[in-house]
This record gives sequence, C-alpha cells and structure tokens, in this order.
Amino acid sequence: MKVLKFGGTSVGSAERMKAVARIVCDGERKIVVLSAMAGTTNTLVEICDYLYKKNADGARETIATLERKYWGVIEELYEAEEYKQAARDAVRACVVSMRACIKELFTIYEEKEILAQGELMSTAMMQLYMQEQGVKSVLLPALDYMRINKNNEPDMSYIRTSLNDMLKSVPEADMYITQGYICRNAYGEVDNLQRGGSDYSASLIGAVIGADEIQIWTDIDGMHNNDPRYVENTRPVRYLHFDEAAELGYFGAKILHPTCIQPAKQNNIPVRLLNTLEPQAPGTFISNYPHPQDAHTIKAVAAKDNITAIKIKSGRKLLAHGFLRKVFETFETYKTTIDMVATSEVGVSVTIDNTRHLPEILDDLRQYGTVMVDENMVIVCVVGDLEWQNAGLESRALSALKDIPVRMVSYGGSNYNISFLVRQEDKIPALQALSRELFG
Ligand code: ADP
Ligand code: ASP
Ligand code: MG
Repeated sequence: MKVLKFGGTSVGSAERMKAVARIVCDGERKIVVLSAMAGTTNTLVEICDYLYKKNADGARETIATLERKYWGVIEELYEAEEYKQAARDAVRACVVSMRACIKELFTIYEEKEILAQGELMSTAMMQLYMQEQGVKSVLLPALDYMRINKNNEPDMSYIRTSLNDMLKSVPEADMYITQGYICRNAYGEVDNLQRGGSDYSASLIGAVIGADEIQIWTDIDGMHNNDPRYVENTRPVRYLHFDEAAELGYFGAKILHPTCIQPAKQNNIPVRLLNTLEPQAPGTFISNYPHPQDAHTIKAVAAKDNITAIKIKSGRKLLAHGFLRKVFETFETYKTTIDMVATSEVGVSVTIDNTRHLPEILDDLRQYGTVMVDENMVIVCVVGDLEWQNAGLESRALSALKDIPVRMVSYGGSNYNISFLVRQEDKIPALQALSRELFG
C-alpha cells in the first residue's frame, strides 16, 4: 500500500480538494494524509497569539472569519445539501472546540488543541466528499494512533500496533484518510509534530505499515536544484539519495520537512515528491540507491536562515587537550544543536540556530577563552556526490562565491555536502551565484 500526503496548497480550496480526489481515486487502496487547508494553521497560530495576549475579542473575530471561509468552501465542494450540512456540522464541532479554549488562563494545552483543528476540518471535509462521490473511504483518526513519547520522539511501537490494528478492523475500505501533523503526547494530551510536520506523519505511517512508497504531493514538481523563491530558472532534480534529501530538507529546502527522511530511509521505503498541479510530472524520486547518472554531480543548493556563529579562541597558545570537549559539553548542557564546526590551532567556530540559551552558553564559554558572536547569518548548503576523491566539485562551489564574504566553510563531514556560512544579506546573491556556476 502507498501513503500519499497532500500539503496545505493541495487542499487549499474546493477546486484543489476535487483535484486531490481525482489523483487518489485510481482503484488502488492507499492511505491519504492531509494537511490543513493553506493558511489555516497560520490563522490558528494567530488565534492563539490573541489568546496569549488576553484579547478574546480578537480571537473570536478571527475564528468567525475562519468559519465563514470554510462555509464558502463547503458550498462549492458538495452537490447535495445533505453533505453540505454534514460538513458544516463537522466544521462547527471544530469551531466549538476552538471557542472552548477561550479561557482566562490560556496555556500550551489549549494552544495545541486549537492548532489541531485545521487537519481535523480538512480530513472531515475530504471524507464527506469521498462519500458523496461513492468512494468507500474510511477516516482514521490520527489522535487514536499517532503518539510521541516523553522526549517528543515518535512512539514507534505504539504507532505500529495502533495503526495496524485500526487498519485490520476496517479491511474492506478502498481508501483511508487521516490527519497529518497532529498526535497525542506521552500524557495523552493533543499535541503536534511541529510546523510542516505532515510530511513526518506520512513518513511515520509509511514506516509502520511497511508501505511500498511514500508520496509527498505539493505545489511544485519535485525538489528543485535551488530555492525557487529566490532563484529564477531552477529545475527539478530527478533522483536523490536519502542522505542528500535529508541535507536539503535540514538546510532549508522547504518542500521536505527534515524529520521526514529518517523513518523512510531506515525502512527502505522510497519517497516521491510530486506536484498536485501537474500530476503527470515525474517529480523527484528519493531512495537508498544512488542513480548511476548522478555520480560526480552536484544536485542542489539550499539555505537555512537565522544562524548564529560563535567563535571561541582558546586562552592558551595552542589548542589545549580537552578544550573541544568542554566547548561541546556547554552546548549539550543547554540542549542546543550545533550545525557547522570549523577548527584551527587556536580556536573553534560553531553555528547554532536555537538561541534560547545563548546568554548562558556565552557566559559558560568565556571560562575557556575569548568569545565572539556573529548573528543574522545563513548556512548555504551545496548537496551532491561530494565524496572527497571527486576532485574539483568543492572548488567550483567555492569559486562561485568568490565575491561573497564567507565566514565559515564545512566540507568532509559527509559525502554529500559542503556548507558555507554567509551574512543574511548575502544569501540571495550566494544562491544565485551558485546556480549560475553549478547549473548553468
Ligand atoms: P506543502 O504545504 O505542500 O507542505 P510547502 O510550502 O511546505 O508545501 O513546500 C513547498 C514549497 O517549498 C514550494 O512551493 C517552494 O516554494 C518551496 N521550496 C523551497 N526550496 C525548494 C526546493 N529546493 N525545491 C522545491 N521547492 C522548494
Ligand atoms: N498544517 C501544519 C502546518 O501548516 C502541518 C503541515 O502542513 O505540514 O504547519
Ligand atoms: Mg510542507
């Protein structure tokens, strides 16, 4: 069985939902994972912001506007009044849940309850549309099988048992529809897999059912060789290795949530990136096997914003024994992940993207030497078959950036990437220069 995930824009209107139905109704049994309609989760975040700021009227107004928007979609989506009414009832139930969260003391629990409503609405509407079309589809409530543990990691054995039991209990279905993004946590509360997490849901579902393939359907024809939001004339990459896709997702290629690769890779389930607006386009095929034609080539470039670089110059003349351990332990103490590292005889530079504990980290690091910080930096990541024996690839990437000040370079950490740290204002020129040099 395949797992097909459709993102926000793919279910962003009645017309788009009908297009999804046309794609999924091909006679093959499958699991369809849906995001919230485009813009909905942002609106839900806005509602939560109002409630944290104790602006109940702002929240009520935004909820009412959202409800009206859904009514418009419902009017267009269904033929029969019976289905329109059922869909209005389903949306209203979600609106009632949102309003129940308007409380004097608004906490993270109410926030997560509100954030879950987008996927609950889109899936309820799609399920009713399938029923109206005469498709034997079954709604699988993600809150009954998707769970994270105390470390916020997926509880794989629970997910495997619960979902497979659920599937066995309704074997006669043509299609299963379920929510991306939402889950319960170790305490049974409603929770989520972080923004953009529907890709992760699809991958986890694929892993636990041993899917033949996981398809991520979105609004573009696969992973492009550069970020189409900043660079013109980007082209889709036909094949990627899981490790290349993981680097690109992690370093900013928004089409793929970084967490989504690992469950698929571990279970050797290929991932296909496809375009709802152009279903015949081949998209990108991601697997554990490199494509022979791709040997010695650079595939794509991505960029990750909001990076802070920290340089620690050792107090001693030569890099002392134990210095690096102490530096890395400081970041570990504050549960802060390091992305890039560059060392020299007298010091080390690292980058982080989570600055929540930056003041404490800097205080601690000052015991070991002089500390300097560069904020508003960007990691530009070049991905491909970058094994060190493939001479010349790293020098092409470097020469593309000859006019741009580069704060750090990281190469050799894997066979798949070379990363450059540049200033935020140099990000777009850097991406464009790399496209010109590497992809013509
Ligand atoms: P969805 O809502 O379907 O999950 P996203 O907005 O999360 O879709 O991801 C798709 C978007 O990712 C594209 O519209 C595109 O603007 C952006 N994107 C960024 N980098 C890339 C890339 N390298 N290739 C393709 N799309 C990319
Ligand atoms: N709806 C959620 C979001 O907008 C999850 C997703 O779309 O992947 O972040
Ligand atoms: Mg996405």
